[in-house]
Amino acid sequence: MAAMRVDDKLGFVRFKVDEQGSHIIVNEDCEDEKEMRLLAKACPAGLYSYEEGKLSFNYEGCLECGTCRVLSGGGLIEHWNYPRGAKGVEYHQG
Ligand code: SF4
Repeated sequence: MAAMRVDDKLGFVRFKVDEQGSHIIVNEDCEDEKEMRLLAKACPAGLYSYEEGKLSFNYEGCLECGTCRVLSGGGLIEHWNYPRGAKGVEYHQG
């Protein structure tokens, strides 16, 4: 049996969106262009986008990997936590 590729495995990932709000709070007043570009490039789920000097972020689909938390120098990510119980990502197939 051939090993599954990461993209194939991600196809099994499911999300339960927390309707009460995001578990990651982004500082909308942040002007650190370098950090905004970095997170837009690094998020494996592509949830940050940086275009025409403006950052947009959507928490739905977050893989809870913590990459943005680690890479943020503290200016852009105001608050990072896991979603409330039974919300967020559900991994299947390893
Ligand atoms: S925790 Fe990971 S998947 Fe979620 S927003 Fe940050 S970098 Fe993207």
